Amino acid sequence: MEKENLANLRNIGIAAHIDAGKTTVTERILFYTGKSFKLGEVHEGTAIMDWMEEEQKRGITITAAATTCFWKDYRINIIDTPGHVDFTIEVERSLRVLDGAICVFCGVGGVEAQTETVWRQANRYKVPRICFVNKMDRIGSDFIKVVNEIKGKLSKNAVPIQLPVGKEKDFKGVVDLIKMKAIIFDYEDESGEKFEEHDLTDDMLEEAEKYREIMMEGIADKVDWFMDKYLSESAIKEEDIVRAVREGTINSGLIPVLCGSAFKNRGIQQLLDAVCYYLPSPLEIPPIKGTHPKDDSVIQRKPLATEPFSALAFKIASDKHGDLTFIRIYSGTITSGQRLYNPRFRKKELASRIYSMHADKREQLESASAGDIVAIVGFKDTGTGDTICVEEYPIILERIEFPETVISMAIEPKTESEKEKLVFVLARLAKEDPTFRVHTDSETSQLIVSGMGELHLEVLKNRMLSEYKINANVGAPRVSYRETIGHEAEVDEKFVKQTGGRGQYARVEIRLEPYVGEKLVEFEDKIKGGAITKQYIKSVEKGIMDTAKSGVSGGYPLINIKVTLLDGDMHSVDSSEFAFYHAAGIALRKAVEKAKAILLEPIMQIEITVPDNYLGDVLGDLNGRRAHIIEMATEGDLRVVKGKIPLAESFGYSSVLRSITQGRGTYTMEPLEYKPAPAKTYSNVA
Ligand code: GDP
Repeated sequence: MEKENLANLRNIGIAAHIDAGKTTVTERILFYTGKSFKLGEVHEGTAIMDWMEEEQKRGITITAAATTCFWKDYRINIIDTPGHVDFTIEVERSLRVLDGAICVFCGVGGVEAQTETVWRQANRYKVPRICFVNKMDRIGSDFIKVVNEIKGKLSKNAVPIQLPVGKEKDFKGVVDLIKMKAIIFDYEDESGEKFEEHDLTDDMLEEAEKYREIMMEGIADKVDWFMDKYLSESAIKEEDIVRAVREGTINSGLIPVLCGSAFKNRGIQQLLDAVCYYLPSPLEIPPIKGTHPKDDSVIQRKPLATEPFSALAFKIASDKHGDLTFIRIYSGTITSGQRLYNPRFRKKELASRIYSMHADKREQLESASAGDIVAIVGFKDTGTGDTICVEEYPIILERIEFPETVISMAIEPKTESEKEKLVFVLARLAKEDPTFRVHTDSETSQLIVSGMGELHLEVLKNRMLSEYKINANVGAPRVSYRETIGHEAEVDEKFVKQTGGRGQYARVEIRLEPYVGEKLVEFEDKIKGGAITKQYIKSVEKGIMDTAKSGVSGGYPLINIKVTLLDGDMHSVDSSEFAFYHAAGIALRKAVEKAKAILLEPIMQIEITVPDNYLGDVLGDLNGRRAHIIEMATEGDLRVVKGKIPLAESFGYSSVLRSITQGRGTYTMEPLEYKPAPAKTYSNVA
């Protein structure tokens, strides 16, 4: 894509709390951008983005697909972000590859706790965003109330750039505070394609002027040159305001807020305009950083077609045509049939075909360049999170960090003849979803699957059945415990073997200490004066890391520890990488014993929403589950309880909550942290 075209490209995501209307908004966007010719309703399960069976059944969007559409002179790639907290990792990986986002809110419900989670994630990735307050046709909707909630809970930089015209069933359009015009939709035309711009009537004028002032001050606060204009000029040109909103949104965290009703087809075209006017193009985000696979030196790539090729695989999906790898291209160009390179496996990958994906069809492309998001057919081994580049210019883009799994279950096919197929399907699901893992238990030879929660594993099990027609039995859920240490310990370990011929010799001295940092296990080399060679130090590090991963006393992986290599000794003939690898493993085991191992259990963050009259029963039940309540809030006649609960106490919670609240309660749960398990746990799990 040429530079001019790149300026007209938008890679966006749409984030929302469940039920705020994300699916409906997405679908309307596809309708108005001309890619979809039939308006389908979500409750009928025909929404275009939800093309996976599982999603249709649940009515929630679990996996992110990318869809291309066109609006005016712009090309927009929509990366679908899921709304369910059990799948925040899906949100994270979409945030990684998009340049801007629309946050959809319900005009009645406002800011719900889940939105805060997604918002914080978007902050972490510094994603510029605009807000859309949806459902303005609903009884009880209140635009200004929601704006104030956004300001109070999410960002004080939120500024309305529109106001609703009419309320609830009389909601007919929006006031554009930049143009100071009312955009009124044709009442007769249900598709919402016809609207007209009118002057503001007297009854709208006062409020519009008040909020225009607030908007102007909000922009001036963030954009210096606009502040000067605002203070010195009486009439500021529309194009200057638009330019300032754009700059403020992209560079300074300004959040323009719009409103509408996706369901009634009001305000979507204006939302599309705002996406094009205010969200960044790939040229306006910082160059991507990566490292050279050989020496870890930092490399930067600009979003230009002429730079060496680099891309990030952010989604593997299978549809009826075969496997698709969705990639975000950060630099360079690829043409179909080109050989590419995966630096993680040091393997070539063939981009047999390149597609631009539209919700219901795909378009084959000859080539694709920097900034774009496309789907590739032909990759064999590349998984989610991998970098793809060309072999002559290798680069590893910062990997997407995937959290540790917290729950596991044994899984076996209903019939022995299906075993091979089951193994194949599990491997493929794991390639698609890096938070889902599979291994064979070395003692029992059982297949074990692990993931981020009960619902996560349940969804995958249902997918196996519906998409691959494999029926499997799963065992009881098991908690994935971890181990850490209580205090510091030092060990001096000699590994010596003399059995005639060449022997084995290695000595390592290590210190082990409790530690909390970015990495779960930190290794530091403090050897002075070359007591052992660099190559042996690498073997020591590998021995430590492998032993920490496979666990020491109960086979639980070690976390939150720091291992320092203090000293060592080698022998010119008998020392080997093998000897140092083993010496390090033994030293770590002994050190953990000395440093008092502590068993850790995963703690889940839980958020429960229930009608007021069930609150007492829900709290009473939580009490018996070692749960810890952090916050309680009221939202209309619902109560929202936020807390922490040990995973071990949460099994089967969906049916428990259903029965306590007669199906009226809902909850979300995701892994939060590890904490020491109660003393009796050891004897139960060992
Ligand atoms: P998602 O969970 O955020 O994807 O939300 P959906 O798009 O599935 O919408 C949830 C429900 O709200 C569905 O029944 C929609 O028909 C309804 N809905 C969506 N947008 C609007 C709107 O603007 N007004 C009203 N009244 N209902 C809406």
